[in-house]
Amino acid sequence: MRTKLIFGNWKMNKLTSEAREFALQSVEFKKYADEHGVQIGVAPTFTSLSVVKEVNPSLTVAAQNCHFEEKGAFTGEISIPMLLDLHIDWVIIGHSERRTYFGETNETCNKKIKALFAHDMTPIYCCGETLEQFENGLTKEVIKEQINVGLADLYKEHVKNMVIAYEPIWSIGTGKNASKEIAQDICSYIRDLVKEMYGDASETVRILYGGSVKPENVRAYLSEKDVDGALVGGASLKVDSFKQLIENIVD
Ligand code: PEP
Repeated sequence: MRTKLIFGNWKMNKLTSEAREFALQSVEFKKYADEHGVQIGVAPTFTSLSVVKEVNPSLTVAAQNCHFEEKGAFTGEISIPMLLDLHIDWVIIGHSERRTYFGETNETCNKKIKALFAHDMTPIYCCGETLEQFENGLTKEVIKEQINVGLADLYKEHVKNMVIAYEPIWSIGTGKNASKEIAQDICSYIRDLVKEMYGDASETVRILYGGSVKPENVRAYLSEKDVDGALVGGASLKVDSFKQLIENIVD
């Protein structure tokens, strides 16, 4: 049984005071999520990682990026040891905004994932196609490359516990959802690709759907067999809608 996971990606939002307020209020709904067997987490900006972790240590907290080198001349970057120093052991890797605006490639994602696993950390590896690729029927080709290269040469034991997020770029922040059928089809395709590479690690790896997930549609996605949770941007920013995401998926 794969534990359901609802993860909020805050992107470049929230001052530390706002992150603290959210974390304070999360104490109560984290308990509710635990009681219903749902794991929840958030990915704040680097400046708010500590405050969220300190205020609610039981919340899963991820960074939105990291560098694959331990230290050195990489101005503006944050290393894995620096994250561990803040007790942060989850990181989002290869979000489409990082691929589009900051030159992230499948190869750099692979280096980052390897570096995270070397420190026993958990990556949430994002993949997904552009609107043009979707319209040209190239989705599976693109996903295959992202998975084959991004997840190359890893240990099965590590892959077993990682998280992959399928996020069609055309549905992120656009209000234009992929249907639950598309989400299921691609999440199941990703599971098959992981099976080809790492055998039964595919049975435990958790695969999320992301792209305009809201309290009103979250249940439909999570009712699909291969969709184990959601990576949520906009609807994760407000306490009330985050809470509703959880309430709407429990029985
Ligand atoms: C995201 O940023 O990963 C995302 C899915 O955003 P939104 O939910 O706002 O589409």
